[in-house]
Amino acid sequence: MTVRIVNGTGVLVHGHFGRAVLSPAARAAVDTAAGCADFEYDLEAGRHDRRGRATYAALRRAVPAAGDVLVVNNNAAALVLAVTALAAGREVVISRGELMESGDGFHLPDLLSATGARVHEVGSTNRTTLTDYRRALWSGTGAILKVYPSTYRIDGLTAQVGVDQLARLGVPVITDVGNGLLAPHPLLTGEPDVDTVLRQGAALATASGDKLLGGPQSGLLLGMRATVDQVRRHPLGRAMRPDKLTLAALEATVRGGPTPTMTALEAPLDELRERGRAVLAALQAGGVAATLVPAESTVREGRVPGARIPSVAVSLSQRLSRPLRRGVPAVVGRIRDGRLQLDLRSVPPEQDAALVAAVIAGAAGLPDPGAGNP
Ligand SMILES: *Cc1c(COP(=O)(O)O)cnc(C)c1O
Repeated sequence: MTVRIVNGTGVLVHGHFGRAVLSPAARAAVDTAAGCADFEYDLEAGRHDRRGRATYAALRRAVPAAGDVLVVNNNAAALVLAVTALAAGREVVISRGELMESGDGFHLPDLLSATGARVHEVGSTNRTTLTDYRRALWSGTGAILKVYPSTYRIDGLTAQVGVDQLARLGVPVITDVGNGLLAPHPLLTGEPDVDTVLRQGAALATASGDKLLGGPQSGLLLGMRATVDQVRRHPLGRAMRPDKLTLAALEATVRGGPTPTMTALEAPLDELRERGRAVLAALQAGGVAATLVPAESTVREGRVPGARIPSVAVSLSQRLSRPLRRGVPAVVGRIRDGRLQLDLRSVPPEQDAALVAAVIAGAAGLPDPGAGNP
């Protein structure tokens, strides 16, 4: 059985917990989609329609700079499909500083080689110039790939070439905007976004659906109409087709209001402090010793670069870690200075009561009453 987790780690999009938390609208859409629904059917005309039309329309509205859109199973699939369609049997040019690996099995050099494109590395680990790219181009070049690595940062004596400059080299530029941000966000300066790279002239941007976009696992391809069309027609696309639950949740995520991820990111510190005081009072009333401490939330787990957002955490005895992980719902926090910290920014406010009940139950060494723990 899948166990629900109250996420007290302070990591807003936690890869080990299934990444993005779906919005109420997306959950409702999944419920509707679970039965028969109009995924490939035009109810007006009473005949077959292009699969996922409503999802594509929502994405095009959300990113006006995109001439067209395609959805596949994840961002890795989007990259594979883009590079295969544009550069199989030819070369894909990439900076040595961008050949990334992530902690969850995404190994870009191997993935690119598997497409049948020859990987033409340019520049050095820390510095790549426009001249490096220009020298690499010839009639056998299929595409330039520009990756925004999300798991490391190169510091010191560095040089990278922006999409605006690459786009003038006469070869289609594919950009991997793995974080999935569709437009710039004021709290996430330094994070790339799809709208900006397309405006800078990228032919194609790929993005994850279940990171900062806050939707279901999916990979988005957005870009110039002719390029997206070329990718769409590649036979491999059929093997990466998303299911109806994904299409429904994605549409509702893109159309709907703020996602839980964005609500958590933007929650004012005062609001977190107020929740913290209420949680603390309830815990103390339940006989649990706890304090409130300042904390820092992050977007992703692990020691990855990115925004650090000030937050508030409930600090508890470290001995509670295991009983809380084994409760239903499970409560997972992080260990800091020999204490178990539960960061309230990554806990949706409507879970505060469940958090309190789980901590009190854990402290009493009892299973959570009423939770139906088998
Ligand atoms: C997350 C990420 C990927 C992989 O995306 P999936 O949706 O997990 O397949 C690729 N590139 C970058 C830059 C990423 O951040």
